[in-house]
Amino acid sequence: MEYYLWAKSLQAAGDWTGWKWTNKYGLDYLPYYTNETSYITITGESSPINFYDRSIYTAFKINEDFDLAEKMYDAASMPILKNSESLFNNFLGTIFGKKPFYQDDLAVVAYEKIANFVLNNSDPDTCEIPQLYNLSKMIDSEGENYQLDYPPTIRRIMNLGSVNLSKLLGVNCNCGLSFERPNDCAKIQICSYCKKEKKSNRGNLISTLNYEVTAGTSVVLKNKSINDYRLVPTGYVNSLTAYTINDLATSIGFNTDWQDFYEFYEYIPAWNGGIIENLIDWNSEQTTINRTISTSNEWFRDEGLLDIFLNYEIYKGLGLLDE
Ligand SMILES: [Zn+2]
Repeated sequence: MEYYLWAKSLQAAGDWTGWKWTNKYGLDYLPYYTNETSYITITGESSPINFYDRSIYTAFKINEDFDLAEKMYDAASMPILKNSESLFNNFLGTIFGKKPFYQDDLAVVAYEKIANFVLNNSDPDTCEIPQLYNLSKMIDSEGENYQLDYPPTIRRIMNLGSVNLSKLLGVNCNCGLSFERPNDCAKIQICSYCKKEKKSNRGNLISTLNYEVTAGTSVVLKNKSINDYRLVPTGYVNSLTAYTINDLATSIGFNTDWQDFYEFYEYIPAWNGGIIENLIDWNSEQTTINRTISTSNEWFRDEGLLDIFLNYEIYKGLGLLDE
């Protein structure tokens, strides 16, 4: 090895990697060296790789499903328009958005703003962030201003993130647990909240004292004096899993003349109430998150659903995803 101060270079000679020596003397001196062909299997495992797909985790708000081209097609009456599939599907559909929708499709954004006007502007539980600041201004309750100027798709997610999770998910309508109406009532009643048919959970009257009850099967108890119904979950009675309705009444603490005051009915467990007060459209086939796993931790934690929504929009905005 020689070093030249003024030429500012370093030159090396010799067998630096050891390959030359190995080729020449390996067979004589290295016990593991061989000239034969051999195979070695290498196995391993990579850490999980994230792939982004538009259909994996996304949520649509209610009213984010407006197909303007389809509505125009429905309204068109001239045959020349009605027969022009290309105009509505390819031309107008491409401009305004068609199924499967994106949340930032032109007609979807415009219609959502109109249809959800009250939710987005006046209801403090569900409104968007600037509107929330305006509402707090009206009652002189202004705090620190954290309003930033986001691009539209990010703004949409920030607005979703500012809404309480229970408002996003909605609640089960109370009409799903009703003992009030007799079962044989032929009139169909529609719940004004969830728009589903109201049905009674009260089955047939249990008239015989020897009626067999199985632990785990609930029954409905009627207090005859005040006309009140309640659900009675059942468990073991005297260590038995099957017993008579009279045994159940005795175990509850009723006197022997309990039939003068109470009646038991079979319970029809079918839940017919729907989800109400929700901001996420659970009826949309494009909402791919699951309502049952959407706990607040699933929603807000690192790599949670909000993170995934944001990452997706950021990657899409930066052109890192092929659409
Ligand atoms: Zn209902």
